Amino acid sequence: MHTPLPEHHPLESLAREAADLIKSCVHCGFCLPACPTYHLLGDELDSPRGRIYLIKQMAEGNAPTQITQQHLDRCLSCRACETACPSGVRYGRLVDVGREMVAQQAPRAAASSVTRAALGMALSNRTLFGAALGLGRLFRSLLPRALAVSIPPRPRALAWPGARHARRMIVLEGCVQPALQPGINAAAAAVLDRVGISLIRDGGGCCGALNHHLSREEAALSQVRRNIDAWTTHLEAGAECIVITASGCGLMVKDYAQVLRDDPLYAAKAARISVAARDICEVLTPEDIARANIKAGEGRRVAWQSPCTLQHGQKIRGRVETLLSAAGFEVLEPTDPTRCCGSAGTYSILQPEMSAQLRTLKVGSLEALTPDVIATGNIGCLQHLSSEAAVPVRHWIQILAASIPRNGATAAPA
Ligand code: SF4
Ligand code: SF4
Repeated sequence: MHTPLPEHHPLESLAREAADLIKSCVHCGFCLPACPTYHLLGDELDSPRGRIYLIKQMAEGNAPTQITQQHLDRCLSCRACETACPSGVRYGRLVDVGREMVAQQAPRAAASSVTRAALGMALSNRTLFGAALGLGRLFRSLLPRALAVSIPPRPRALAWPGARHARRMIVLEGCVQPALQPGINAAAAAVLDRVGISLIRDGGGCCGALNHHLSREEAALSQVRRNIDAWTTHLEAGAECIVITASGCGLMVKDYAQVLRDDPLYAAKAARISVAARDICEVLTPEDIARANIKAGEGRRVAWQSPCTLQHGQKIRGRVETLLSAAGFEVLEPTDPTRCCGSAGTYSILQPEMSAQLRTLKVGSLEALTPDVIATGNIGCLQHLSSEAAVPVRHWIQILAASIPRNGATAAPA
């Protein structure tokens, strides 16, 4: 699709980038059936093709309206449309550009801006989030049911193996995950220790994704630069890579090169970090699982829910399933494997109705498989599905680690 740019555009470089990304769209509509919001609402403007049209209008010099903002806000950034698109349209980047254009030209109402700023600050700050979670646990009985069910019980503290191996990798500690589910990174450390790799905690915080997706670019960039500085020191000291156990954060870190491409001080360092970023499933092989004698499955049935950030964002498909099979699980796939569960970062808070509808659909398709456990690979999906599923939902690495003795005892079954 050709986008004629006006002679003078108030956001020239964004308009140019949008026009360039839109060029490969041939308007075929193959992406529509893959889009969860189009599935729920049936409105072309809530489909990828409709949103591309809205962004094209902005690039052509038309000022965005509240309607533009509403349809872009409803997009989950799940990128299922990217997977479905035969022309290779980079929709994920395009919607980021579109949102940036809206943010600069159509400021939000004060209440909405305050909510988004508060979310960005509270969720991406581990100390603040941990304190709020502690209060939530204390007063759970006084909270509305919808909120109370999303607060997990206080997790058991798990031992972290000592740094005893020559091979070392750094782990992104993150922001909400250590407070909600500290056992996930501890499980990754236990499995890697078993295969001869020491996982070192980075002492850092948020990857920047929360603020980035709330269009709070300055806050996001300062988190990104802080991480780059910390991790560069670790890489120079011999760490092999940066391991990330939340696929949403992994996608963001792999995007650091893109995010800082125009920063003369950080562009090269950001590119190095992006190349060194790995989802935990990328550092393990089925042979590792066999050699480490990890037999967590023993014929148990696991339903695999692949996070959008893993399958559509990072384009990693089939890897976790292979690892779970190697550990003896029967791996089951739902009938809607490519559709988002509705979590999508802060989407579940900002668009609660659509998010809940998508969760009900996903929990239904996963539970129809009658699994013993549901596995996923992202903290957001895990918490979101857990609040409705009757079957336990775990990170897949926790499921594998469950058979490894820790603190002198075998961990509880996942
Ligand atoms: S499938 Fe790709 S080319 Fe076709 S309308 Fe969607 S984004 Fe455009
Ligand atoms: S990212 Fe997801 S919700 Fe947004 S347009 Fe694409 S498929 Fe639809």
